Amino acid sequence: MPTYKSEINEIEGIYQIKIDVPFAVKFVCLYLFKLNGKNILIDSGLNMGNWKKKLFSAFEELNTSIQDIDYCIITHLHTDHIGLVRLLKQKNPNLQILMHDITHELLKWETSDDNLKELEQEARGIADQLIKYGISEEQGERIVKFFTYWPKFLQYQKPDIIVHDRDIVFEDLEIIWTPGHSFGHICIFDKNKKYLFSGDHILSRITPHIGNFVVPSHLAEQYKDYDFNNILKHYLASLDKIDNLSPKIIFPGHQEIIYNPHERILQIKEHHKNRLAEISSVIKDNPITAYKLSQIHFGEDLDEINSYMALSEVLGHLLYLQAQDKVKKIEKNGKFLYYC
Ligand SMILES: [Zn+2]
Repeated sequence: MPTYKSEINEIEGIYQIKIDVPFAVKFVCLYLFKLNGKNILIDSGLNMGNWKKKLFSAFEELNTSIQDIDYCIITHLHTDHIGLVRLLKQKNPNLQILMHDITHELLKWETSDDNLKELEQEARGIADQLIKYGISEEQGERIVKFFTYWPKFLQYQKPDIIVHDRDIVFEDLEIIWTPGHSFGHICIFDKNKKYLFSGDHILSRITPHIGNFVVPSHLAEQYKDYDFNNILKHYLASLDKIDNLSPKIIFPGHQEIIYNPHERILQIKEHHKNRLAEISSVIKDNPITAYKLSQIHFGEDLDEINSYMALSEVLGHLLYLQAQDKVKKIEKNGKFLYYC
């Protein structure tokens, strides 16, 4: 019998369960802790390969069974954080699942066969936009596949408790809606201890990817004050929201524990500021597509996923500058060219 080992660390009474994933981030971290007599788990891990075996053997190593866990709070919709939520609920029907309203709506939408057509249409819409931003028709086809492929790793699980921004749960935990990396992303803040569970909103070494969201029309309608064309603006505002809480320690979904939250937040903001300046200087009197710009910044030999990530990163910055009237856009031969 193979044994499945994962790394378990204890930090200030909080258990970090660190399990490897086949992506660039290398590890996903779940957190298990006791609060006011209840066992709380942050995130549910990845529904792929032998991950579930690794997770259950980690519980065993902690002398905890899934039956002992009272609550599981999901930070966001990505498969490495929400993947096993349905399985956990099946193993322990008393487990109460918490997720943000948006995460729940998107999960329901992406996992329902009835919506496959709408999902495809929305993905097609994004691909068509990206073709205008400079990718080829073939790459566009693959983008549609990408957006319709990932939901296959998601399984619907109705949450027991739907949370919203600034909700207080279990007396001491405050839910902070932090859109940017994912539309429904939340951080969980222990007000007493000033610990923050940041999901993918704040990581120790990389600046989190700013997402392009595929969102059903009913949700876009419900959140019509949200500027889907300027996600970087929302992400930066979400960083300030966290900074204002003055967290003492950040427990992120990947990489290392962050003991200097304020400095780390400043570094991430600085990174974006520099990137905005670099982009402005490259496109000064030099109209180019967002895709070309992403190749200048990140190189041309990226694989499909990474070149898409690079494009969406650059796009986040361009749209931010555009919203401030700091760049101009012209359309030429079906492509958008940016310059300033
Ligand atoms: Zn993640």
